[in-house]
Amino acid sequence: MDERAKTCFAYKSGKCRILDINRCEGSSCGFCKTEEQVMQERAESLAIIETLEPMHRDAIHEKYLNGQIGAGFYKNGTA
Ligand code: SF4
Repeated sequence: MDERAKTCFAYKSGKCRILDINRCEGSSCGFCKTEEQVMQERAESLAIIETLEPMHRDAIHEKYLNGQIGAGFYKNGTA
């Protein structure tokens, strides 16, 4: 196991929590990201969703986020 893979957000006790595999594939894995990278990408994704028309934005919230993001999220910046 290389050190980069051990910092992957999905790595836990030698196993991968997001892929359907038995062992972590190491730094050659295309999904290897730090927790910070994941948080940054999520923030960027939410920023893109924010630019959508309310009808489309609400549909994404309902389908993928179970409506967990409240109506005031984009004004307040918090869920
Ligand atoms: S298999 Fe990939 S995504 Fe999963 S823990 Fe290892 S590096 Fe991370």
